[in-house]
Amino acid sequence: MISLETAVRKILKNVKVIGSEVVPIENSLGRVLGEGIYAKENIPSFNRAAMDGYAVRCWDTVDATEYDPVILEVIGTLAAGYNTKSIVTREKAIRIMTGAPMPHGANSVVMLEDTGSIKRTTKEFVKVLRPVKRGENVSFSGEDVKKGELILYRGKCLRPADIGMLAALGIKSVQVAKKPRVDIISTGDEVVEATQKRLKKGQIRDSNSYALYSLVLACGGEPIRLGIARDRKEDLVHLLEASEGSDIVLLSGGVSVGSYDIVKDVLISDFGVKMLFWKVAIRPGKPIFCGIKNHRLFFGLPGYPVSSIVTFELFVKPTIEHMLYKWDRDEEYVSAILEQEVEKKERRNFLRGFLYFRNDRYYVMPVGIQKSSALSSMVIANSLIDIPEGKGSINKGKIVRVKRIT
Ligand code: AMP
Ligand code: MG
Repeated sequence: MISLETAVRKILKNVKVIGSEVVPIENSLGRVLGEGIYAKENIPSFNRAAMDGYAVRCWDTVDATEYDPVILEVIGTLAAGYNTKSIVTREKAIRIMTGAPMPHGANSVVMLEDTGSIKRTTKEFVKVLRPVKRGENVSFSGEDVKKGELILYRGKCLRPADIGMLAALGIKSVQVAKKPRVDIISTGDEVVEATQKRLKKGQIRDSNSYALYSLVLACGGEPIRLGIARDRKEDLVHLLEASEGSDIVLLSGGVSVGSYDIVKDVLISDFGVKMLFWKVAIRPGKPIFCGIKNHRLFFGLPGYPVSSIVTFELFVKPTIEHMLYKWDRDEEYVSAILEQEVEKKERRNFLRGFLYFRNDRYYVMPVGIQKSSALSSMVIANSLIDIPEGKGSINKGKIVRVKRIT
């Protein structure tokens, strides 16, 4: 059986990066940037006051002290958004507000807090109580962003600050990766619509397609639920045909070795899918199938609710992120202190865990019923504890690898 890492590499080698589309920046949150953004101008585009105070020539303030202030003549006032033709010459100052452009002649700003006012009848003066250095309290053109600089790189997942930056640069719409279309098919004669009120003995509601739908959304894909296929070839082929045009197809159930587990065979024999792998050395999720046809990927996820979610996290999420050309993935694994002894199994085991941060450390506690049928464990869990295969157990207090989940 192949390892998780080998399997994921196999998929990623076969994934084609998806095309892009242009969206207004208001709608770009969480989308993956499809182009590098270079600054077409400086930010700020002019030298400006960084504080409320007085624009001065720094040389005029060198001797200023609290007890022996320098007195400068105030020749005007300048608010943010305005400009002045007045020039600050020797022993003159202009009262200036944060954000206002620096007047000619001045090279620094004395903070209001470092001044005192003087009342005289005709002219106005200011007492400067402290010297300012050249450039002090001035924010210079290009200080934040320099013209020509690469500001946002391709593959960056856009965050609020990025969108603010786009606006600051005067960019109203951006190229982002298209959302891959991910079609979802549930399988199983026992599986009925979630809307069905009363269940007959033997029936279960289709929870997988809703969990998978939400996972796809959270990963930046465009999910479509195609419905439930009965465990019959014609039924499955019918829904597979309906998936035409999608980038990824997720099937759940029917990939194990039971008599009615037909998904793999139908995909290969009746639908022309080329197998990439079947079965991976992990639990839950061992029987996962993955195949490809015309650059479209087909995942046969195991039917148990926990298995389908776990395999989505481990295999499908990286696939979608790769398609999106997403670079800044979450640092998904953390090291944490195990809060309870865990038995190792013959296969690498992803236990449902609850990860938390206390006293500067991460701790993780196995939670819920550790059975792949128990969706309730997934409801409590916020992570998967990666327990390597082997004999014996891992003691409480040991460091384990933990993967956060969506
Ligand atoms: P299978 O892999 O088809 O044998 O399914 C394994 C288990 O998962 C069975 O108990 C199924 O009833 C259950 N199962 C399969 N599909 C779904 C689904 N869409 N929602 C919830 N449980 C499912
Ligand atoms: Mg089944």
